[in-house]
Amino acid sequence: MSTTDAIRDAILAGAPGPELAALAIPESYRAAYVRRDEVDMFEGVESADKDPAQSLHVDDVATPELAPDEVYLAVMASSINFNTVWTSIFEPLPTFGFLDRLARESEWSARHARDEHIIGSDASGVVLRVGSAVRNWAPGDRVTVHCNHVDDQDPSAHDDSMLASNQRIWGFETNFGGLADLAVVKANQLMPKPSHLTWEEAAVNALCNSTSYRMLVSDNGARMKQGDSVLIWGATGGIGGYAVQYVLNGGGTPIGVVSSPERAALLNEMGCEAVIDRRAEGYNFWSDDTTQDESEWRRFGKKIRELTGEDPDIVFEHPGRSTMGASVFAVKRGGTVVTCAATSGYMVEFDNRHFWMKLKRLLSSHFANYAESWAANRLIDQGRIQPLLSTTHPLSDVGAAARSVHRNEVEGKVGVLCMSPEAGLGIDDMEKRERIGVDRITMFQRHAG
Ligand code: NAP
Repeated sequence: MSTTDAIRDAILAGAPGPELAALAIPESYRAAYVRRDEVDMFEGVESADKDPAQSLHVDDVATPELAPDEVYLAVMASSINFNTVWTSIFEPLPTFGFLDRLARESEWSARHARDEHIIGSDASGVVLRVGSAVRNWAPGDRVTVHCNHVDDQDPSAHDDSMLASNQRIWGFETNFGGLADLAVVKANQLMPKPSHLTWEEAAVNALCNSTSYRMLVSDNGARMKQGDSVLIWGATGGIGGYAVQYVLNGGGTPIGVVSSPERAALLNEMGCEAVIDRRAEGYNFWSDDTTQDESEWRRFGKKIRELTGEDPDIVFEHPGRSTMGASVFAVKRGGTVVTCAATSGYMVEFDNRHFWMKLKRLLSSHFANYAESWAANRLIDQGRIQPLLSTTHPLSDVGAAARSVHRNEVEGKVGVLCMSPEAGLGIDDMEKRERIGVDRITMFQRHAG
């Protein structure tokens, strides 16, 4: 029996921490990675046609040594994020530069500069070993992982750790990420696994849920208030689906923008009544590559007013170039556009006259600090925010899983089974699951069929 199989069997049998701690750590493990010598493989190919299944490999990689502040994690499940897509299509730039820069920081960080980048910024799993400086976690702990990777000895990391000069996203700007059977994680990235969820339901939340929490709820974000109306682009997508839940929980009115009647129906089921199907409405904000059409912004703004009777207090923005002009136009006088991304292009453009004359605000946001990640994880644990797992793939199928996100073919989140041999395992508290409501927890899974 392989070392990895022995670990899997022990976890599935519910082995206690000391027993797990006594198991050998494998010298190599199965992981999804991109290769340094393939970063030019898509030269001349249009972004939309770049296929992650061509660049993502799943094979054995050498296990790195463990630093004193890290743990080895047996990854039961992970998830596809949009950064999985960016890494695998080598846009906006290959990620090996991130690893090489990190490698120059310390003796331990030198491990990250490899010719394979093992990716993945989400995970649920079981702690196998802790480094000598780890205090609060022990082998056997069942955890989820947030992806905020900072050096806590750097003073710039002490207030809002997202402002740390060396802040990185684990599994995107660092190596040894979660799309693997084993991961190396700083102890300060660990959070307790919500006890009512399966491994794959628990694995999909941390990155997107924490991002939406910071954007809307946190003092560092748009500080949504009761009664606020919030326009949410991609409202059944990864971050958008959590945003809808935060607005509903916070006593606001979400206006969800999606691109199909099925997605509109899913939004209704979530409790979002004001819905815009952008495809059915046929918005064409850019009349050509360099010109935006203000009459289309007006048509969009009018539609929002028809639905809610007012302009939105907040716009939850992430498509970027295709929508930023419309977002800045549509947000109310004095309102806030909060942005964390630019899926359709990062050179954005808006009409500054509408912006300054109506005293609007544009706020940038990026992932979440430790406190925000913990607050967002706690809300999942309390059953106030539901996981958005829709489809689940085995790790061997990670390329097709990433492709489905790249092509905007799935709602919510795509889960990936790593050490977990099948979906549905890992629930520790069935009574709590039933109390919260299995139908609510599995809404996106049921929708995906
Ligand atoms: P996702 O699950 O693929 O959802 C994105 C949604 O955006 C889609 O469901 C789609 O919805 C909508 N969309 C796509 N292109 C659009 C366009 N041109 N115009 C209008 N809507 C469009 O992705 P995600 O995980 O939510 O991530 C969204 C973006 O945020 C990505 O660029 C990602 O890299 C970024 N992100 C950033 C952070 C951060 O910390 N900074 C964290 C998470 C994600 P419809 O087709 O239904 O309208």
